[in-house]
Order: sequence, then C-alpha cells, then structure tokens
Amino acid sequence: MLNETIAALLQTTQLPTKKTVRGWIRSRRDSKGLSFLVISDGSTLQTLQAVVDAGTPGYEENLAHLTTGASVAIEGELIASLGKGPKVELKASKVTLLGAADAETYPLQKKGHGMEFLRSIAHLRARSNVFGAVFRIRATLAQATHRFFANRGFYYVHTPIITASDCEGAGAMFEVRANTKEDFFGKPAMLTVSGQLNAEALAYGLGRVYTFGPTFRAENSNTNRHLAEFWMIEPEATFFDIHDDMDLAEDFLKALIDAVFAERADDVELLNQFIDKELIATLKHTRDSKFVRITYTDAVDILAKSGHPFEFPVAWGGDIQTEHERFLTEQHFKQPVIITGYPKDIKSFYMFQNDDGKTVAAMDVLVPRIGEIIGGSQREHRLDRLEGRIRELGMNPEDYAWYLELNRFGAVPHAGFGLGFERAVMFCTGMVNIRDVVPFPRAVGQAAY
Ligand code: ATP
Ligand code: MN
Repeated sequence: MLNETIAALLQTTQLPTKKTVRGWIRSRRDSKGLSFLVISDGSTLQTLQAVVDAGTPGYEENLAHLTTGASVAIEGELIASLGKGPKVELKASKVTLLGAADAETYPLQKKGHGMEFLRSIAHLRARSNVFGAVFRIRATLAQATHRFFANRGFYYVHTPIITASDCEGAGAMFEVRANTKEDFFGKPAMLTVSGQLNAEALAYGLGRVYTFGPTFRAENSNTNRHLAEFWMIEPEATFFDIHDDMDLAEDFLKALIDAVFAERADDVELLNQFIDKELIATLKHTRDSKFVRITYTDAVDILAKSGHPFEFPVAWGGDIQTEHERFLTEQHFKQPVIITGYPKDIKSFYMFQNDDGKTVAAMDVLVPRIGEIIGGSQREHRLDRLEGRIRELGMNPEDYAWYLELNRFGAVPHAGFGLGFERAVMFCTGMVNIRDVVPFPRAVGQAAY
C-alpha cells in the first residue's frame, strides 16, 4: 500500500522489503558518513529510524532542511534492527523533503515543554508525544464506549443539540439565537446540557439506548474539571433499577480501562512516566476493585467524623463538594465509591423517590484524582409522584407535558447516567487539567482555534 503508517510498518514480518515511510522528523543524529532520522507519523507513539548514507539521493542537497518538524518521504529497504527499541529500521535509498520546518521558529523542538505553553499552541500540540498519546487514548475510549454498549444491546441514538427544555438543575445554559430572525424557534432555545429526557423517550421505544454527543454548560468558574463544551455519554435503560444502573456504570469504567491497556499500552506507559507516576497503578487498582457502595447519609457521617479540615462544612442536606468526594475515594476508602440516596432537595425532579420521603435513587460515581465522574439515577416512572414533585418545586407540569406523557403510557422502571467523557479521558491519561484532554478546549474566556 502506498500510504503505510509507521504502526503498520513496525508490524512487518517479511524482511527485508521495500517500503516508504512518510512522516515528520523527530530528531536527526549525524555520524561519520551517515545520518539517523527518527520519523513519527502519529499512527503510534513509536518512531521509525531511517539510516541515510551520505550519498543517498535527496539527502545532501536537503540537509539544511532535514530538521525537527520537517515532513519527509523516505524510500528504502525495511530491515531487522540490531539495537534496542523497534525491531525494524529503514535503510534509505531516497529522501524527499516534503515541507521544511524552520528550526528557528518551529516551537516543538525535541525537549519537553510545559503544559501551559503547549496549551497556548493548541494547533500544534497534537504533534507532541504527550498530546499524541492523550488523543489516541481518547479515540480508543470513544470506540470502546460504542463496543461496550453495543455488546449489551444498547442502541446509539442522537438527541438534539438545540433544545427548549432545560433538564432542570443541570447547570447554566447558552442561549441560541439566529442573526436573521428574532425568535427563530418561536420560543427561547438553548444548547443542550443533557440529552437525558430525549433519551428516556427513545428508551421507551428501543429498550436500551445511549447518547454520545456534545453538551454545553455556561460554567462561569475556572476549574480543572469543567468545560463550557464537553462530550457526554448517557445510557438510558428500561427495566433497570438503581442497582442495575450502578452495575452498568462500574462495568463501563472497567471496560474503558481494559481497552486502554489492550490497545494503548505504550501511550499509557509514556503518560505514567511523564505525567502521573501513579497512573498505571491507579487504573489497575480501579480495574480490580469492587466499587464501594454507600449511602449519602453514611458518606456525610464519615466526612463529619473524619476530623479532616474541609474548606466547606458537611451537613446532611448539603452538597458533597469535590474535596469531600476526593477524600472519600482517595483517603478513606482508597478505591472508587458510588454514593446513592441523595436528599431529594439537592437533586433533579425526575429522580425516583425513595420510601423515606426524603431521598431519591440518585448515584454518583467517584474516582481518585477526579471526584465525580458519573452522575445518574433511577427515574421516577410513577406519574403521580413525578407530577407531584414538579408541582412541589413550583414548576409548571405543562412545560413538561411530553416528558410526563412518556410515563402516562406503559410506564416501567428505568434508569440511566451521564459520564463526562473528558473526565474519563483525564482519569485514563493522568492529565490534571480538563483543557488538556480535548483538542480545542472551550471554557470561560477561552474559545481560540
Ligand atoms: P459537577 O458537580 O462535577 O459540576 P454535575 O453534577 O453538575 O458535575 P451532572 O449534571 O451530573 O454534573 O453531569 C454528568 C457528568 O457530566 C458529570 O458526572 C461529569 O462527569 C460531567 N460534567 C458535568 N459538567 C461538566 C463540565 N462543565 N465539563 C466537563 N464535564 C462535566
Ligand atoms: Mn452530578
């Protein structure tokens, strides 16, 4: 094949064989009468070394431009390599310079750069080792997501990005307006904060569904774990109760970790070396533990008795903050934790009301370094309870007419959750800032590229 990737070339077994490598020069080392050009093409973290004799056509006349970042095509013979590292190398017979990269101005020279600097050149950072690894892992996680749900009979559905319903309580929204016509949609429209309500409608038709799409929240705070535009995976399954929902969430996170080790072992090694020395240990530990399941009431109790100096006080009825979440998963239990049975007053109207009259069948999954990675619930399918809660909260049932109608006809227990995809990528890569796991981040004050 004309365009063989380095990932493919490195798998070649019939040697020697004529091949062409196309990619970018990572480094060049000159020795007496020859040069070693290390080539990468993004298909893998691995590089392919080309050994170029001084007399090779295209070599000497281009030498000044054969520098880090320049693009080249090198024809030659792929042979077994004697040194450590990759098992093959290319003995060059012709070098073609495709595009030079001025050594004075090309920002990605060989040495490691800080994350902040790389964020300021987001259009170039995918060419670095770390960001190559992160974005390859991101792709693997996306495909593993589709495989996981397909294997369990979930259908992939697409829910609207522009919406007029606000999935109450999910966060501040962006308004959508046309510059040609006032009131384009006939009423105020927003960018979606969650596809859940639509997904529930589809679950009633298809049994088990999931969405995987862009989600928007006008988070006006500069945290390491919030974006204005992020991707969310939202399964919704009929005949699932809260326990099935927790099982699904736990299995899903473990399947993602399995995929990373099976498909991106070299990338995860690199990140373990340069980004988080505990990454592999944390992932393996998560993969092998049974997630702790506790009630909100017990969680508050543990936090209150911990003696830990939290910035925000803990009391029954209040939110569990990130610092509390991280304390529970990192210090107290030292493994992932699922909290259930939150007070109904701090959760959304659609959650299943427990018999105690105070709590709902909500669940949050907490993992080390991140805190909340998944939020979900069993949904209230009992029409009287659902409508009652809407009224209780001072909302108008007519605004939720279509949603209520789902449970007017053939209501069944059902449950679902939302996984913030970028939080999963953070967890699997060790990256500490959510802006570094999405290629072109959108956050408050930031929409470049
Ligand atoms: P948090 O308390 O962390 O702000 P949340 O409770 O508002 O999150 P949910 O409404 O439960 O979030 O959304 C489901 C999941 O979506 C969360 O568990 C998280 O993984 C992810 N998520 C929520 N908001 C954001 C955001 N602004 N950027 C990236 N991911 C997010
Ligand atoms: Mn949540």
